[in-house]
This record gives sequence, structure tokens and C-alpha cells, in this order.
Amino acid sequence: MTFNDLGLRSQVVKAVTDMGFEQPTPIQLEAIPHLLKSKSDFVGLAQTGTGKTAAFGLPLVNRITESRKYPTGLIICPTRELCLQIAKDLQNYSKYEKSATVEAVYGGADIQRQIKNIRNGVSIIVATPGRLVDLIKRKAIQLNEVEVVVLDEADEMLNMGFKEDLDFILSATPEEKSTWLFSATMPKEVARIGKTYMTDPLEVSIGNKNEGNANIDHIYFSVKERDRYAALKRLIDFNPKIFGLVFCRTRRETQQVAEKLGKEGYSAEALHGDLSQAQRDRVMNLFRNRSIQLLVATDVAARGIDVDDITHVINYNLPDEVENYTHRSGRTARAGNTGESLVLINTREKYKINQIEKIIGQKFTPAEIPGPEAICAIQLESMINKVKATKVNEEEIAPFIPHILADLEELTKEEVIKKFVSAEFNRFLDYYKKAGDLNAKASDRGGDDRGRDRDRGRRRDRGRTDENKQRFFVSLGDKDGLNPGGLLRVICDATGLKSDTIGRIDIMPAFSFFDADKSDADKILAQVNGADFEGKSMNIEKTQEKSSGGGGRGRGGSRGGSRSGGDRRSGGRSGGGSRSGGRSGGGSSRRRR
Ligand code: AMP
Repeated sequence: MTFNDLGLRSQVVKAVTDMGFEQPTPIQLEAIPHLLKSKSDFVGLAQTGTGKTAAFGLPLVNRITESRKYPTGLIICPTRELCLQIAKDLQNYSKYEKSATVEAVYGGADIQRQIKNIRNGVSIIVATPGRLVDLIKRKAIQLNEVEVVVLDEADEMLNMGFKEDLDFILSATPEEKSTWLFSATMPKEVARIGKTYMTDPLEVSIGNKNEGNANIDHIYFSVKERDRYAALKRLIDFNPKIFGLVFCRTRRETQQVAEKLGKEGYSAEALHGDLSQAQRDRVMNLFRNRSIQLLVATDVAARGIDVDDITHVINYNLPDEVENYTHRSGRTARAGNTGESLVLINTREKYKINQIEKIIGQKFTPAEIPGPEAICAIQLESMINKVKATKVNEEEIAPFIPHILADLEELTKEEVIKKFVSAEFNRFLDYYKKAGDLNAKASDRGGDDRGRDRDRGRRRDRGRTDENKQRFFVSLGDKDGLNPGGLLRVICDATGLKSDTIGRIDIMPAFSFFDADKSDADKILAQVNGADFEGKSMNIEKTQEKSSGGGGRGRGGSRGGSRSGGDRRSGGRSGGGSRSGGRSGGGSSRRRR
């Protein structure tokens, strides 16, 4: 089956052929014929890298045969990077259809220029939710003639707290439009959107629901917390040809890891939200051109990265939201390639692996951090291969050769080789000479059973009033799109604190509470107060009441209705709405390969 057989107009087929696409991918084969029908709702469960942009982009462009004043198509996606990528792809698909015009609208760019372009008449808008809401409220965009709304990476948009923005946007579009939803995973919230806004959608799943790409090997390594960074270096050293993404949990951690790697001679750069757009573009270009081997990134900053041939995704720390793991690992093994997703966990995080296995429907392989000998052998081999493959520029080097040969005359061939190898390699050998085994042993938990008991004790302790904790009031709540993951992200990004130093979180409709160590209280107050959350300023205050500790951040009843949050400054103890999948210790013992 070719693009010609799918029912697309010849202009569109020609544009796709120009792009070098020969055959439709599975999601394109399933989606395109259906989406070409005038009234068609659609749910596509597909990872990034499956060709889903063309799956919705081609039938959308195919509809546009005349210039209109107001948009026909509206594509909503989570980040600026993805927004620009989709707009670029759509421009390519519509290169032979002059009446199809595409405009990308996203936050952080000049809104007046975007408004001007929209007023000139655009047939397809590609937008991030926050900026689109802004444009609708300013009455700068008219969505009455929209025929198709595409929600791309719907799960990610909900993870990022755009639920209410999406509801608002969808209510501003005509009833009788078609809605096409794409998502890598299908959590309940995404299913809700499907139910609320679609009639009888065709549901196509490339791979099973929530299932990861079968070409990815998922491997985890158990290390002591303090060895996390050293273990990362070993994984990189063991894979000299790595072209990879290293995921961290906070912007600060991302920056620190990239800086340390840079100082130690690794080819790595950071990508996170504290960088200016120009800095981010520079880093992305370096990565795309393969001028750097490693991109150290936060989840949000890495969204929309469409770089093929990534060999490894390294999870320096696992994401707080388990679903994000699918997005991370989906950056490798694109377009039919294979890839590895490596995960570093400490001895208490095994339960997270079990959670992810359930979501992706694939098993992880436990593996050991390679030892010094294996790494040195691999590095030496790689160096020798590089030497063998080096082209000699005879002409340029000729004038120097007599002098060099005279200088080395005393040495045998073998001695020359040893010296050249040592000159390159001694620093490396020295480092690994002193390096030991980084794999955590069962005894590192204080014996499995003792470890579990200790853990239980700790959780019990957390259930009692905790003298060492300070409870904080937060001025934003559920209706502002805040969820426990989002609140943790703001606190940790602003302060650099680890997320496990934050205790119970209660999200109420209009405000929230969280517990933190008393020793961090002043820092949190100084650095989180006034922080930005999705364009809103987050104010925090210490509450008077002692912290409840709250039995960890697990479970928790209803989503803290207004009764439970009655006295908003008192510390609102009774509400639930706490972070799902709380820290339940993870007692099972580790398998080893
Ligand atoms: P996407 O999942 O839309 O991010 O696409 C992943 C990559 O596959 C992009 O680099 C696309 O340009 C490429 N691609 C999409 N469809 C095809 C196709 N039918 N043939 C070859 N490459 C494709």
C-alpha cells in the first residue's frame, strides 16, 4: 500500500514523496483513510516516532482547498518545541497547496506578531494550550469555523496541568467538529476527554494500550544513592559510541549533572527551562548535528525532540509521574531502530520498576554496573578502532615526519604503540584503578527484612504528628491545574531540594498544603514564594498548626472537597488528593543477571 492508495489528493502525495516517505507507517495506514471522511472522531494510541504527525497532518492538509479568513484546523500540543516541529511538518505537507497556511502560536514569543499573522488569515493553527487560551480571551482568534481539532500528546498535556485549559479551548470550538486525539498512554483523564468530546471514535492502537515500543530494551541498575553519578559515568564509558539523552528530575539536577560531565571531559550539554530560547536552540542544534554526544534534560524540555538514532536513554532519576517514563524511553528506537533505556535506582526504588513494568507491559532486565576492567577494555578497543579508522593526511603531515621519526628512533615499534596508547589512556586507567564495584548489595539495605521493618517503622512515624516538619499553605489548588506532581516540580525546581524531602501534599480546590522538613522551611519560604506555575504566581505561607506528617504521600480519600479544606490556613488535615503511588518502600529483593 502506498500513499497514492490512501485517498489523498495528488498535491499532498507529491509533497510526501518529496520528503522521502515511501510507504505509510502502520498508524498512517490505519488513520488516514478514516480521517479523510468528513465527520470522523479518532483516538490514536501511538508512541512518538511512529509517524503520527503525518497520520493527522496529511488528512488535515488534504481538506484545505480554498483560502478562508478563519482557521479550519486546530492542533494543540504540550510544548513550544513540538509546536514548531508540527508546524514545520505541516508546511512541508502543504507545499503544493497554496491556500493551506500554518501558524504556530506558543508562549514566550511575541503575542502581537502572532495576533497579526492570525488576522491575516491562517488555515491551520498549531498551539500550546496556555497561549491559545490567552488568544481566545483576548478575542484575537476566531474558532467558529474549525472543522478539526487535534489533541497531540494528550497524556503529556494533562501531566503538565493543562486539563482546564483544554476544556476551555474545546468549549470555544464548534460542536460539530471532528476531534482527533493522539496519546502515548491512556490514563483515565485522557479517556475522559475521549468520552466527553467525541462520538464513536475509531480507536487505533499501535502496540497495546500504554505499551512501550518492543524495540527498546529496558534495563535497570541498583546502586547506592551516593554512587548515582559515578554509575552514570560508567554507563557512558561502557558505551563509547553513545548518542543519548540523560533524564534528570529537576532543572537544577540537570544543570549540575551536565556541568560535572562537561568538566570531566564528556561531550554533554544541559537542556532545561531555565535556559533562554536562544540557548536551548543552540544546544539542540549541537545535539542534532551530533557535535555533542549527550543531552542532559528535564522531561518538559525534552518534549518534542525529534532526533532519530538516539542509542540510549539514561534515567539518572526516574520521573515522578510513571507515565513520563514511556515518553522518555520513546526517544530511542525510533523509525524501526533498536535502543536501550537504562535506569539507575537506589535500593529503595525497586517498586518504581514494578510500577513501570505494569504500565509499559514489558519486563526490565536487572543488570550490573560494569566494572573497571570491562570498561577499560571497551575504551581501549574503541580507541584502537578510532586510530585504525583515522585518515592520514599525507601531504599536510609529510614535512613533520622526518623530525618525528628521528625523535622516536630509539624506540621499538611496540614501545611507540605503548607510549601513544598510554598518553591517551593513562588518565582513564588511573581513574578506574581506584574505582571499585558500584553495585548495591542486598546488605546495603541493612538486610532485606531489617530494611523492610525499618521502612515500615518510618512510614508509621510519618503517620504521627511530626515535630520536625513544617506545614505550608499554597495559594493555588486543583482549579488552577495544580496537582501533587506539579507542586513538587515547582518546589524542587525553585529550591533544589530532593522531592523525597517533601512530605504530605494535599491539593484542595482553591489552595493546597504540603509538609517539608523544618530545616528547609526558610529556604522554601524565600525561594518558592512568588514562583510561577503555568503563568500564575504561587504564594506560600507557613501554617500555624503542627504538621500531621500524613502517612506519606500515598493513598488518601477524596480529592479534598471544600469541607475538608475548611480553614484554609489551619493546615487542612483531612483532605486527601495526595500523590498517587506514594513511597511504599519496595521491599522485594533484587534479581541479578
Ligand atoms: P513522528 O512520530 O510524527 O514524530 O515521526 C517520526 C519520524 O518518522 C519523523 O522523522 C518523520 O519525518 C518520519 N516519518 C513519518 N512518516 C514516515 C513515513 N511514512 N516514511 C518514512 N519516514 C516517516
